[in-house]
Amino acid sequence: MDCLFCKIAAGEIPSKKVYEDEQVYAFYDIDPQAPVHVLLIPKAHIASAAEITPENSAVVAHIFEVAAALAKELGLDDGFRIVSNCGESAGQTVRHLHFHLMGGRSFAWPAG
Ligand code: 5GP
Ligand code: ZN
Repeated sequence: MDCLFCKIAAGEIPSKKVYEDEQVYAFYDIDPQAPVHVLLIPKAHIASAAEITPENSAVVAHIFEVAAALAKELGLDDGFRIVSNCGESAGQTVRHLHFHLMGGRSFAWPAG
């Protein structure tokens, strides 16, 4: 499958790895929108948050556990934001489920 994040998770395209296990890969965003900007992805291809089902949702819980640990590790003690853009109008540009973990600055709400 011609998917950028599948290739990154498989190591076929280089990335700055932050964390990896059997299910999850985390790496620094190439175009950071905050002092800390990490992307967390399932290694198995899921197109977007709209494709999460009872069969594949366990990895999503695991991603949030990893995100909480990384936020501590990366010193985001003042807070952080986790975002998943789903679909064109939300600004999803890569069609492989990913969660942005961002911190190190203040964020406005609602976003955009
Ligand atoms: P989206 O726009 O789909 O919510 O998020 C996609 C994110 O992937 C963007 O923040 C973009 O900067 C990042 N991105 C796109 N291509 C690459 C790449 O080749 N390497 C890395 N590390 N990040 C990428
Ligand atoms: Zn993929």
